[in-house]
Parts: sequence; structure tokens; C-alpha cells
Amino acid sequence: MMIVVMNSDAMLSQVSSVIHKIESLGLTPHPSRGEHQTIIGIVGIIDAGHKDDLEHIGQMPGVAKTIRITRPFKLVNREFKPDPTIIRVNGLSIGGEDFAVMAGPCAVESAEQVRATARAVRDAGARILRGGAFKPRTSPYSFKGLGEEGLKILRAAKEETGLPIVTEVISPELVPLVVKYADILQVGARNMQNYALLEAVGGIRKPVLLKRGMMSTIEEMLLAAEYIVSNGNKEVMLCERGIRTFETATRSTLDISAVPVLKQSSHLPVIVDPSHAAGARPYIAPLAKAALAAGADGIIVEVHPSPETASVDGAQSLTFDEFREMMDELRPVAAAVGKRMVLCGEDDAGMRRASA
Ligand code: PEP
Ligand code: MN
Repeated sequence: MMIVVMNSDAMLSQVSSVIHKIESLGLTPHPSRGEHQTIIGIVGIIDAGHKDDLEHIGQMPGVAKTIRITRPFKLVNREFKPDPTIIRVNGLSIGGEDFAVMAGPCAVESAEQVRATARAVRDAGARILRGGAFKPRTSPYSFKGLGEEGLKILRAAKEETGLPIVTEVISPELVPLVVKYADILQVGARNMQNYALLEAVGGIRKPVLLKRGMMSTIEEMLLAAEYIVSNGNKEVMLCERGIRTFETATRSTLDISAVPVLKQSSHLPVIVDPSHAAGARPYIAPLAKAALAAGADGIIVEVHPSPETASVDGAQSLTFDEFREMMDELRPVAAAVGKRMVLCGEDDAGMRRASA
């Protein structure tokens, strides 16, 4: 794996010559025009036979230098594409200036539950509705979700509130169904290394929220993202949702370090899920603020009209009031770190609060 860095005053014809040279070697060039210079990543199996040719590229006119990349992930590597990947959903620039708040129940239980939650979280400032119709459950006897019926409920809530939907897909066979309803497809922690699923969501043209496996390293997560991107889908968000440690006071341990590490290693947006990390309501808002302060591009949070009756993850689901309070606490943090948080339908200049 190599990157060719062009001179800042390199001519277009010089860039094309390098691209042609790379192609003539049977390798794939990935040019990316940065603010100051063009860089061209080379992807393919580079073997000993290419050694002289690659050295030759380093000598071509307009080339400033070539860099060998030793990290195993390439397309998602920030060295490969220094500019952040910005994913546009519902007017948000995720990975750019916006702090995206996705909120909703863990599982879709009924039309009324989703409808009420969608309205409440939208009015409090969420811009994307979450909700699981297909639930991956640790026990085969637990509620596994409403399936397509749940997707229809989400769609109805979207039509009413204007909030796009993020929902989980748990197997490759379900991708064609889920993609019809979802605006963002979620790959859950338990499926982070389901390579058939990663390849399937790599073949669609909708953003993917890839959650970190609870026993996966950051590098394994980036390689999982690499599966999706190398299959053609460039719109991947990386989601830190807590990992398993010796600690038992929280459901998982939120690896807040993953936020700056991922931001530095990759150009992809980083989302934090404080709900599954904490597993308990009182810790959600502090962890959400920590995520924002650490540089995350958004959060995904569980909210339920009556958490005590929730069929899944009630202990970590915020009430409507708690969600609103958390949003109020997040706004000054966003302002302090230069992230934008605007309500649904509000224009850029608007600091107006939603009318009740
Ligand atoms: C969820 O989002 O409801 C979920 C199952 O999350 P995770 O895959 O992170 O456990
Ligand atoms: Mn959940």
C-alpha cells in the first residue's frame, strides 16, 4: 500500500500520467484532491515484482513523494484521504460541522410508542430517529423485534415527523428489505465481523452506521469498515458503543479514547452510543457530553415513553424529559467545541428553540 503525494503546483496532466502508470501496473489509483495538493492512494496487491515500477512513480514529474502505508486499513485511512468524509442526512453534515443526534427506542414496540418518541425527540433537537425492528438478542427466548411491521411503523413516524430512520440489519438476506425503509443501516456490535453482512451493506447506496464489536479492537473495527468501503459504499459512520472490560459498574466501558484515535486514523465520521456503553440512565448525559467534547460527530441515544415498561433496554432508556435536559446540557458544549446543533427545520442562523 502506497500513497503518492503530488506537488502543490502539479499539473493535471502530471496527475493523469501517475494515474495511468498505476493502472498499467494492474493496481487501482484512488485520487483525492486535498486543499493543498492531490494525493493518489494505490490499492491492490503490491508484490516484489512492482518494486522498480513503484520507485519509478516516485521520480515522475509533479510527484513530491511516495509514502508506504503499513497500517492494514487503507481506504478508510486518513493518510489516504486527509479530508473528512461528510455524510449528508436530513440536511446534516455528519463528519462536518454538525453534531448529529439520533434518538429513539431500542426496539420498535408499537406505532404509538414510536410516534410519541419521534415527536418528543424531534422537538428536543434530535435529527434522526432510531429504532430496532430486527433485534439481535443474546438469548434466543428474548423479544426479537417486530420485523417488517416495525419498519412500517418507523416509516409512518418518519412521514409524520420528517425524521429519517436509522435501523439495524442483522443478516445479508435482510439488506434488500431494510434498505427500502432505512435512511441509515445499522450494523450492530454483534455483527461487526459478519463479513457477509459487511459485504452486503457495501453494495448499497445508503449510509451505514457500523458499531464496534464489544470485544473488538479499534483496528478490527477499521478493517470492518474497510470491508464496506472496499465493496463500494463510502458512507460509513464508525460507532463506539462500549467494550467489555473487567468493570461491572457499567454495562460496558465507553472507550472515549476511541473517539480521538478513530478521528486521527480515519476520515470517517465517529458516532458515540452512550446508552449501550453505560447501560444505566444516570450516566447517559455525562457520557454524551464527554463524547461531544472528545470530538465525536454525533451520538445515538435510546429514549422511551415509559422506560420501566420497555421490552428491551429500559434501564438505559431516557424519558422524554431526561432527553430534553441532556440536549440542553449538550448545546453549550457544542458551542465550546465548535459543533453545530440546530433543530429540525431550523435554518442555519436560527437559535430559536422549537415551539412546544
Ligand atoms: C442497539 O442499538 O439497540 C444495539 C443492539 O446495539 P449494539 O449492537 O451496540 O449492542
Ligand atoms: Mn438497545
